[in-house]
Amino acid sequence: MVMESQSEKLFARSKKVAPGGVHSPVRAFKSVGGTPIFFERSEGPYLYSVEGRRYLDFCLSFGPHILGHRDADVEREIIAVVQRAWSLGTCDPYSLELAEWITHKLPWVEKIRFVTSGTEAVMSALRVARGATGRDLIVKFDGCYHGHVDSLLVKSGSGLAGVGEGDSAGVARATAEQTLVAPLDDENSVETLFREYGAKIAAIIIEPLPANYGLLEQRVEFLQFLRRLCDQNGSLLIFDEVISGFRVALGGMVEVTGVRPDLVTYGKVMGGGLPVGAYGGRQELMNLVAPEGRVYQAGTLSAHPLGMVAGLATLKKLDEMKVYVELERRMLNFTRALRSGLEGSTYQIQSFGSIFWLSPKTSSPIRSLKQLQSNLNDSYRRLFEPCLQKSIYLAPSGYEVGFISLAHSESLLQEAAEKIIEAAHESRHSSI
Ligand SMILES: *Cc1c(COP(=O)(O)O)cnc(C)c1O
Repeated sequence: MVMESQSEKLFARSKKVAPGGVHSPVRAFKSVGGTPIFFERSEGPYLYSVEGRRYLDFCLSFGPHILGHRDADVEREIIAVVQRAWSLGTCDPYSLELAEWITHKLPWVEKIRFVTSGTEAVMSALRVARGATGRDLIVKFDGCYHGHVDSLLVKSGSGLAGVGEGDSAGVARATAEQTLVAPLDDENSVETLFREYGAKIAAIIIEPLPANYGLLEQRVEFLQFLRRLCDQNGSLLIFDEVISGFRVALGGMVEVTGVRPDLVTYGKVMGGGLPVGAYGGRQELMNLVAPEGRVYQAGTLSAHPLGMVAGLATLKKLDEMKVYVELERRMLNFTRALRSGLEGSTYQIQSFGSIFWLSPKTSSPIRSLKQLQSNLNDSYRRLFEPCLQKSIYLAPSGYEVGFISLAHSESLLQEAAEKIIEAAHESRHSSI
C-alpha cells in the first residue's frame, strides 16, 4: 500500500470544509490532475512543502512576488508597521505616501483609490465609467480576465461579437447583457459593436497585455485603435493592469506602448504580496468618487497599512534597482535555453518582460483566444507533473503564465531550463 503523503491528508480534510478544498479554484490542481501540494513557507525563489521539500517557484502567487518571496527589505518594513498600526479606519500617512509616490511616477494616474483586490479595483472602475458617461454598456474581450465581478464573468454568446452570456452560474442574464464581448486582435469586430451600440457604451476594458488565458500579446496598433474609437464615441478606455502594472515596467503597458487609458486598475505587484488593489486615472473622473462625487465606493480594510507599506517598499526597490532591465536580460537567457532545448518537443515558450508562457507549438504568434486549442491542459499536464518531480513548481494550469523574480538567479534559471527541457522530452513518452 502506498503511504498517504502529508499533503494528501490535509487535502482530504480541506475538502470537507472548503469547496473543492480550496479558496481559489486553480489551486486545486483540477487542470493538471493529482493532489495539490500544501506549502507552509516561502523564501526568495522557493516554496517549502509541508513534507519539507523545496520547490523552485515560477507561479509566485500568480504574479505579486516580483522581488521573490519575502524580500528582506520589504519584510523589514512590514514588521516595523505591524508594531505600529494594523487597520486604523482613519486617515493615515501610509496610504498618503503610496498615493503620492504612484501619482508622481505615473502621470496618467492623477488620483488613485486603494481597495483590497484586483476584482474590487475593476468593479469600481466600471462604476466610475458608468457614472461619468451616464451609459450602461461595457465592451470586454474574450481572452481577458478581470477578476470575478459579475458583469465581466461573461463570454461571447453566439456570433463573433455581441451581447455576452454568463460564464459562471449565478450571473444574472440582465447583468451579462450589459456586457458586449469581442475577440482580441480584431478591429472589425469592435468597430461593428460601436456602429450598433456606440452611443450606449460607457467603456472598453482590456488587459493591454492579456496574461490570464496564456500570454496573448496585442499589437500596439490595436490598442491605439481602441483609444481612437473611444475618443470618437465618447466612451472611456480602461486598462486592467492588475497583472502587467509594475510587472513589465514601472508604468506597465502604458509606459511600454505609450497608449493612455482614462482609467487604470492595479493589484498583484503593487501590494508587494499583501492584499492591495487600486484604481486611478484622470482627475475629473476620479473626482466623481465619493465623498467628492456621487459614485459610491468604500472599504473597511481599504488602504491597509501593511499593504501600503509593503507596496511602497516594493515599488521603490523596483525603481531604484533598475529591476526591469535585469529581469528582462535573465528572461532572454532563460527563454533562449528553453527554445533550443524544446525544439523537437511539442512545446514552445513565449515571454514578455518577466512573464513567460509554456504552450503547445504554433506557427504564428498567438494573439487571440480563437487561436488556442480548447484543451491546453491535455498537453500541459504532461509537462507539469514531471516538472513537479524535479522540484519545479509551475502554475497548475496551462492557461496560467509563469513569472520570474529578482530572486531567480541566472544559474537557477539555467538549471531550471534544463529540467523543464528534460520534462518536456519525458512527456513525449508518457501515455497520460
Ligand atoms: C488577477 C487579475 C484580476 C483579479 O485580481 P484579484 O486580486 O484576483 O481579484 C483582475 N484583472 C487582471 C488582469 C488580473 O490579472
